[in-house]
Amino acid sequence: MIPARNITLLDTLPKVAGGYTERAPLANLVWFRTGGPAEVLFRPRDEADLQTFLKNLGADVPLTVIGVGSNLLVRDRGVRGVVIKLGKPFGNIEIEDNLITAGAGTTDLAVAHSALAASLTGLEFMRGIPGTVGGALRTNAGAYGTEISDIFQSATAFDRDGEVHTLSASEMGFSYRSSKIPADWIFTSATFRGTPGDQKTIKAKMDQIQMTREATQPMRVRTGGSTFKNPEGIKAWRLIDQAGCRGLEVGGARVSEKHCNFLINTGPACSADLEALGEEVRRRVKQSAGVTLEWEIERIGER
Ligand SMILES: Cc1cc2nc3c(=O)[nH]c(=O)nc-3n(C[C@H](O)[C@H](O)[C@H](O)COP(=O)(O)OP(=O)(O)OC[C@H]3O[C@@H](n4cnc5c(N)ncnc54)[C@H](O)[C@@H]3O)c2cc1C
Repeated sequence: MIPARNITLLDTLPKVAGGYTERAPLANLVWFRTGGPAEVLFRPRDEADLQTFLKNLGADVPLTVIGVGSNLLVRDRGVRGVVIKLGKPFGNIEIEDNLITAGAGTTDLAVAHSALAASLTGLEFMRGIPGTVGGALRTNAGAYGTEISDIFQSATAFDRDGEVHTLSASEMGFSYRSSKIPADWIFTSATFRGTPGDQKTIKAKMDQIQMTREATQPMRVRTGGSTFKNPEGIKAWRLIDQAGCRGLEVGGARVSEKHCNFLINTGPACSADLEALGEEVRRRVKQSAGVTLEWEIERIGER
């Protein structure tokens, strides 16, 4: 007789064309390289596959979508429910007139390079943001005075029931590092507006962005970028510096010496170290400046 086995979440999920992985490690899918597994990871084969999945998914199954995890801290006990990773099937870029349409799995870097190739200006800032279009829409990503809302034309998203929505800028409700689209909606693509420009000037601006980053931010390290949002009128890094947190360590986690709004996994850190370090920074800044820092990095999963 075949021994009885407990029913797992995987057994209850809709039949799809893409791949499911049970207890899938997430650490290698996020920039910090820490954190526990996804109960189930789903990589849809295409939009139709994603829609079939959503239309047939039980309403009580927790759903999380990730890009390349450059703004995520995955807690050590992992993420319950299904984690969706869009990836390559959502990586197309098309340019028509001055409009650039990119799949939500496309990297911001690829979008910036396509705009350069088409001599379109306005998207240079995306060169320096190490995420995907999906993550950029969710966080209204920005740098050096420009953000997604400045070049946004429209986006498409599936809601939790698999219905397609075409979203205007006002529906996106962009504000500093956020949009107001429900957390369980999944962006599938976006259209951005470029302005015809001089290719050499666009290239020079992109090179300048890269040089500034190299000079001011820790590079090629395990980090999640800026940890805290800048409070109105103040730079978070300055408050952190003034609170004496530059170089502060908890376990294998360290406040970057080069840019103290960046936390770094020096190698052996777990997510609990990074989160504890972030909370200690918040405590010290509150004590020294009376300001409560708000996390920009999103923490997901179970402690
Ligand atoms: C070295 C470094 C430098 C950085 N510099 C900047 C910077 O200058 N400016 C800036 O704004 N950010 C910066 N970041 C943060 C990060 O790159 C951005 O927030 C980026 O937009 C996140 O994209 P992602 O694909 O990695 O998303 P993830 O980190 O994977 O996810 C972030 C959020 O987006 C959601 N999401 C992802 N894809 C989708 C989708 N398809 N549909 C719906 N929701 C989705 C996730 O659920 C989550 O809520 C930096 C990070 C690092 C590591």
